[in-house]
Order: sequence, then structure tokens, then C-alpha cells
Amino acid sequence: MKPGSKNGQQVTARRPSREEELAREAVPVPRLQKTPHAGHKPESYEDMEDLEYPALLYSVMEQHLPSNCLGASREKKLAMLERVLAKYRPNGERAKKHQEYRERIRTNYQPLHEDLYSFAPERFFVGSFLDAIKDGSEAALRHILIAHSPGVFTFNMLKPAFCSMMLEEVEHFEKWAQDAKVKVMRPNTMNNYGAVLDDIGMEDMLNELMTRYLNPMAAVLFPNVGGSSLDSHHGFVVEYAMDRDLDLGFHVDDSEVTLNVCLGKQFDSGELFFRGVRCDKHVNGESRPEEVLEYSHVPGHAILHAGRHRHGAKAITSGQRTNMILWCRSSEFRELKKYQRDFSSWCGECLLRKKERNRCLSSAKRQLAS
Ligand SMILES: [Zn+2]
Repeated sequence: MKPGSKNGQQVTARRPSREEELAREAVPVPRLQKTPHAGHKPESYEDMEDLEYPALLYSVMEQHLPSNCLGASREKKLAMLERVLAKYRPNGERAKKHQEYRERIRTNYQPLHEDLYSFAPERFFVGSFLDAIKDGSEAALRHILIAHSPGVFTFNMLKPAFCSMMLEEVEHFEKWAQDAKVKVMRPNTMNNYGAVLDDIGMEDMLNELMTRYLNPMAAVLFPNVGGSSLDSHHGFVVEYAMDRDLDLGFHVDDSEVTLNVCLGKQFDSGELFFRGVRCDKHVNGESRPEEVLEYSHVPGHAILHAGRHRHGAKAITSGQRTNMILWCRSSEFRELKKYQRDFSSWCGECLLRKKERNRCLSSAKRQLAS
């Protein structure tokens, strides 16, 4: 579920020429050896243009190639090393495939409802949500919310007409993909059905939705998990049906704040369950009774929670449930998090331990004083 970046740094893949691509395809991916060939003097790759990584890296790696590859030409060795790197590079082959997929949709897919592709709050949202954002005060925002347990909020958001259009659009897209023999890239590693709305052309629309309508809410509700600085998103729909995915295992999202809105249609069960917010270190720990929550979806209604809020979806027992989900991320929060050790401002377990430490400290102080 991780995005295509490492430590927040996007790796830019250079576009290889057709010749290079053919040469690469003919080259097997060698298995690097643990110990370098001490006696082998590697090539210098310094004069080669367009290398993706520093030339020295290729020389060092060359010493780990299997013996039967060492005598190959410099070009061939470079091709082999590039194939090894591509395997480990998160943003390499996959990003290229993704780009081609998007391009194919952009040039060939004819949307059913053009209206969905440009952001139009009056057409999309119910009056109470529009009014609360327009007012902008914390009181107005909280007025439309139901707080189910700490950090889980719901509110009426989408007009039924928007929900129907979105459901139809997704079905239309899947039908197109099937007819055009395009393999739909799924939204994440856990859902086998559904589609990424950003891929089918809704990226700008969803970005406006996040910036203008979710950021003000997140600023009030999730100030400790990057709430006011959400600056990128991953938008998708997931589908549950008797012949599709039935449920979704217990997990955390790759987001700071998640918006999850039920679009319909008719279904039984399929409740979301929540088990408290945790940092990476405490993600598998126990939950406390006050953190246990179950929520039944209502079409048009949104649920807003921290990405690190552990959750899952129970199996539906009949019908079909489709939800629109927006994983909202903050680059500022992710950057700062790298330097932090204490997550007690949002991790339930870190907070508990901090309170425990403070209790011990003050009782020790009291004993010393007496
Ligand atoms: Zn923690």
C-alpha cells in the first residue's frame, strides 16, 4: 500500500530508447553474489550519459555479478545492472506501466458523465455540508458531525444524484476496460475490485474536493496528523458484492486522513470496525474498550478518520456496496515524522505510556520530598 516513493524522494525513471529496451529484454536479471570478486577490476561508467544512479554504484555492483557475466561487454553489464536496480526501485517498472495505463484511458475512454470530472460543489454536496464549509467556523463544522468514538466522525455529504452518477461511471469504465481488454489497476494491495478515480481523469476534481472542503475539516478534527497541511491524495472506489470482495481485513491506510463515503447500492451488513489510532511501533497492540467501534454505512454519508486508525470492513451478507475513498496525505507531516520518536499526540498507546511514565515520575518525586 505504500506509494511509489522512497523516503519521500521520488525517483525519476529516465525513458529508455527502443534499442535500449530491446537490449534490456534480451538480458537476464542476474543474481548478485554476496561477496564481491576481489580480483576483478570493474569497468568505469563515468563517461556514460543518462545514468540513473551515480556511475560508481554500477562499478561497485559489477563486482557482485556472477563470474560468467564479468567478461561481457560494458554495455551488456550495464544493462544487467539496470535490470537488477529496476527490480528494487519502487518507482521504476511499475510507474512506467502506470503511466501507460493512464495514457491509454485518457486517449480511449469516453466518460459517461462528464459532469463528474469538474468540481461543482452545488451539484455534488448536500446543503448542510455546503453551508458548514461556507461558514467555516469550528462550531458550524462540528454542528454537522457525529463523533462516534475518539477520532471517527460521520456527516451527510453527497447528493443521491452524485452517488448514482458515480456508480454508473465506474460500471461504465469497467465495461469499457473489459471490452478494450485493459486490465484495471486496482486501488491498493487489499482490494481486488474497484478502480482508481485519479486514473480515469478525476484527479483535479478530487484535489479541489480535498483542498477546499476537507482541509478545513481536517484542520479542526485532525490537527496532530497533518490535518491542516493535506497536499496530495489517492482517490478510488472499492466494491463489495457476493461474487466480488466480501470484506476487508484489519489494516491502516497509507494516508494521514481518510474520507470514506458510501455510494450505495443496496446491501446488508458490511459494517466498518475501528480499533484505535496507533503509530508503526504499536500497530499490532491491543485495543481498549473505548476504542472499539462498529459503524454501518449509509449511502451519501461520509466517514472521516485518521489513516493510522486501525480498521477493517465486515463481510456483506447480500447485495452490493460501493464506496468512494480519498486517502489524503501531508508531505509536511511525513517529513517531520521522520525525526520524531514520541507520537503521544495521536497514538493511543504512546499516550498511555507517556501518562504512565509521568505518574511514576511524580510518585518518585513525592517519595524523595517526604
Ligand atoms: Zn505509539
